[in-house]
Amino acid sequence: MSSQNNIHHRSYIPFRIGQGFDAHRFIKGRSLILGGVEIPFEMGLEGHSDADVLVHAIMDALLGAAGLGDIGRHFPPSDPAYKNIYSLDLLERVSHLLSVNCWNIVNIDSIIICEAPRIAPHMESMRENIRGRLSGLPDVSIKATTTEKMGFTGRGEGVAALAVALISSTKEDFHA
Ligand SMILES: [Zn+2]
Repeated sequence: MSSQNNIHHRSYIPFRIGQGFDAHRFIKGRSLILGGVEIPFEMGLEGHSDADVLVHAIMDALLGAAGLGDIGRHFPPSDPAYKNIYSLDLLERVSHLLSVNCWNIVNIDSIIICEAPRIAPHMESMRENIRGRLSGLPDVSIKATTTEKMGFTGRGEGVAALAVALISSTKEDFHA
């Protein structure tokens, strides 16, 4: 009987976590968009959408937490509808998708990894942009770091981002 109790106990916990990772390469001739903020820089990021690497990592964390796949499944790069699309608009759609699947976003923590440009002056605007697109206005944390000149981010070849998200069930009978 104890194993049944364990199963019941585990399924009662109405929380799920998810992680997201993304990386995009720098190219000339594109605006650099991070967290929905256009940052003055000599290069932008290559990608089918606006290549907002931070928002992409956050979307994957949210979709993963809800067991809803990844952004490639929901917004395939082969679909011309997503060409140059503002990723914050996609984030809003992901938030809606979680809501209709009975998930509430508790909090998000994220890290932008790059050697340049400096992220700190734009962090509060990014945070407001992202939080404003999420239903329930969850806590959003954004951090930034370098890799001490090591690896592709250290060589200034691109920007990477990591995110984790915690979500909670809005189903009253979640434990049933
Ligand atoms: Zn991406």
